[in-house]
Amino acid sequence: MDCNIVKDNKKENENEIEVDDYIRIDDDIEDDVDDYDYDEFDPFDFIRSLPPLEPYRDPILPPKPENSPEITLVLDLDETLVHCTTTEMDEYDVMFPVELNGQQFQVSGRYRPYCSEFLEKVAEMFEVIIFTASQKVYADTLLDFMDPSHKLISHRLFRDECVTVYGNYLKDLSVLGRDLSKTIIIDNSIYAFGYQLENGIPITSWYSDKNDKELLCVLEFLESIVGVYDVRPYLKEKYNLIDRANASYNRYNNDTINDDSSSIVPNTPTRAASASSASFITSSPQQKSPVLYNK
Ligand SMILES: [Mg+2]
Repeated sequence: MDCNIVKDNKKENENEIEVDDYIRIDDDIEDDVDDYDYDEFDPFDFIRSLPPLEPYRDPILPPKPENSPEITLVLDLDETLVHCTTTEMDEYDVMFPVELNGQQFQVSGRYRPYCSEFLEKVAEMFEVIIFTASQKVYADTLLDFMDPSHKLISHRLFRDECVTVYGNYLKDLSVLGRDLSKTIIIDNSIYAFGYQLENGIPITSWYSDKNDKELLCVLEFLESIVGVYDVRPYLKEKYNLIDRANASYNRYNNDTINDDSSSIVPNTPTRAASASSASFITSSPQQKSPVLYNK
């Protein structure tokens, strides 16, 4: 099987109105956003600039039941399992209205190939949690379509449970109240799990490719690590994100060794992020209208 272990987050179709990673657009900064080449965005630059987490936050989930699988699998939603938009789709798997701030939106969405099979399989092996930076009003409705009987997904976490860093939404796994040696997150946005890179599986962003097999590839890997004592060495060996982050850090230091600027300036996604509260799915940097989803 041809598996892409890590690719960037470039959109498959640049004309499609959709979201980039957790970035919301404010009218005041749209010109800045337009000037920025998001294809150049390096998530490791952003991760390098992350401030320390609060030392401790109370767990937001109840303890895991005794009969629950040992390993917890945290899944992103948009562009990892589905692609949704408020523009009309020729073909869609779901369509539903969402009301936000008195305004009605019609959301249509497609499931990534093998999404249903993937969810069925991982639910047999792991405690499955959806953790999305999209707003509950949208994502909860979507998840009711994907898991109508609430048997596959144990918990649903939304934007409000994210940590906001420079206006971007990040998923701090330490708030789950789970053993991090037995916690995995799959997300198409690497910086979303920037605080726990060693727990992450990056996956390519999906929009429409009917031949995509990334979920099957990830599933094959997940099946291989069921029952391990600590998932992190296996993720490191497979995805090597820590080394990539370190390489980015070293590159930055070399580039700036003669730079007399002493502060790390938040990178451009940060500038793009002072948010419009109207967005409930994360917005594309190119999109100027209020948006509903998140990647
Ligand atoms: Mg996403």
